[in-house]
Amino acid sequence: MSTATLQKTNGKSSAARPKQGKLPSAKAKIAKAKDERIDAKSPSPGRTDSFPIEQNIIGGRMVASASGETLPVIAPGDGNVFAEIASGTAEDISRAVTAARRAFEGGWGRLTAIERGRLLLKLSQAVLDYASDLAALESRDTGKPISQGKADVTALARYLEYYGSAADKLHGETIPFLNTHLVSILRVPHGVTGHIIPWNYPVQIFGRSVGAALAAGNACVVKPAEDASLSILKVARLALEVGFPEGAMNIVTGLGRTAGASLAGHPGVDFISFTGSPQTGTFIQSAAAQNHVGVTLELGGKSAQVVFADADLESLMPVVVNAIIQNGGQTCSAGSRLLIERSAYERVVEAVGKRFAALRAGPPERDLELGPMINAAQKRRVETYLAAASEDHLETVASGTIVKDAPKGGYYVPPTLIGQAPATHKIVQEEVFGPVLTATTFDDEADAIRLANGTPYGLVAGVWSRDAKRSLRVARKMRAGQVFVNSYGAGGGIELPFGGFGRSGHGREKGFEGLREFTTTQTLVMAHG
Ligand code: ADP
Repeated sequence: MSTATLQKTNGKSSAARPKQGKLPSAKAKIAKAKDERIDAKSPSPGRTDSFPIEQNIIGGRMVASASGETLPVIAPGDGNVFAEIASGTAEDISRAVTAARRAFEGGWGRLTAIERGRLLLKLSQAVLDYASDLAALESRDTGKPISQGKADVTALARYLEYYGSAADKLHGETIPFLNTHLVSILRVPHGVTGHIIPWNYPVQIFGRSVGAALAAGNACVVKPAEDASLSILKVARLALEVGFPEGAMNIVTGLGRTAGASLAGHPGVDFISFTGSPQTGTFIQSAAAQNHVGVTLELGGKSAQVVFADADLESLMPVVVNAIIQNGGQTCSAGSRLLIERSAYERVVEAVGKRFAALRAGPPERDLELGPMINAAQKRRVETYLAAASEDHLETVASGTIVKDAPKGGYYVPPTLIGQAPATHKIVQEEVFGPVLTATTFDDEADAIRLANGTPYGLVAGVWSRDAKRSLRVARKMRAGQVFVNSYGAGGGIELPFGGFGRSGHGREKGFEGLREFTTTQTLVMAHG
């Protein structure tokens, strides 16, 4: 059991409260290491700066990486190091998988569904009790504006509440068979589940994935993203404090190509849940295939907002803008393509452009519309797409601003609206993962459907029209896992199944579909005749 404690909401200190880090000499080296995903050994001999080191959580204990190595944690808002995390190895993953197996076959596995549910509900309450600290940490670690950090922590509590309440409502079926036999289909957990989590919504994705897996009775090994692990480590400590048996939830931090790859390919893991880039998704699925285990892949998106000329401009405006700037556009389900009926194009683009021009990017604690990108590589990626648009003479309709007092070392980019973007251009086809919205015209319903479905992705779509029949016709033709009519949720809704078509991945998370994903069935046939 962990001895670390957190301060309740509005309290001051936590066990390892991050310090402001100023590292003039080492900063450049460490930032480079992070950007290029190179292991950074630290603290290095003679280095006087010291940061809190957050350890792995394996079998209910906080432990250093088997290699003793750590990775720097950089605040995207200013580019400064403020903590260190364990750089997990294959050895750490093996220990975590062994601890999870022991829990699954032991204390955790023996609990009833009701008991598992109650623990998740307790954890949900603990998350709310410590919401301020968790939100501040999430915001600092990811760069998202503080109110978005708070919203993410509230969503985590709600995921835990939802899946905690659902644990004892997940039941099997009976099947008519021979009159001499009774057949039951039992819903059983996979066993040990691996969870590889990205940096854009750490606590939310932890909630929907680990919350569902635990409710279904699995024991978990979690590999958070190297860019944003801190909030997940804190939540796992809270889980120990509220009484989760040791080994039910194990956290190994570290790099994707070491800790992540070891988890994806570990023969002791029975199922993998992954959210991240399509490229990494391919690695994960290939690694899992070596052990013939299932995977859920929630990958990228290039989601379209289809706006017909009769749409209610006033109500769509804030939703359409928020759908691309939330979390700086670093959202798989960001509404990144605006498709507008030709007759309304000028009117809609002018109104959206006005809003874009008023957007500000700045430090997370200023709580503006946008924070920084997660790291220098992500900032470069967005800038590269904008440069390609400019080289090809695409029109920049409007850009927001980076506030003057934004620290120079932070990874800020201005939100940008690109007009008359050809549907075939890479900025329209590829996932930018930044605050860049493109606007393209369409001529009729068929054209709108063709363009909306005209990328390799299929995660979310929005349809805006006052004509209910047309909205439904178009919505049902969308190749997307979620379709919103006259609204848009960026994957929103804890209760709503979420996942992709095509290159956006497969499997479903959230809602009851997400819970079933963490189970398999066992057919039990009993002769009585
Ligand atoms: P991004 O490029 O946006 O960081 P990734 O898909 O690379 O997105 O990262 C999502 C998660 O996948 C992170 O936890 C990362 O460490 C992990 N990851 C990256 N590469 C691999 C890999 N080869 N095998 C397993 N996990 C990986």
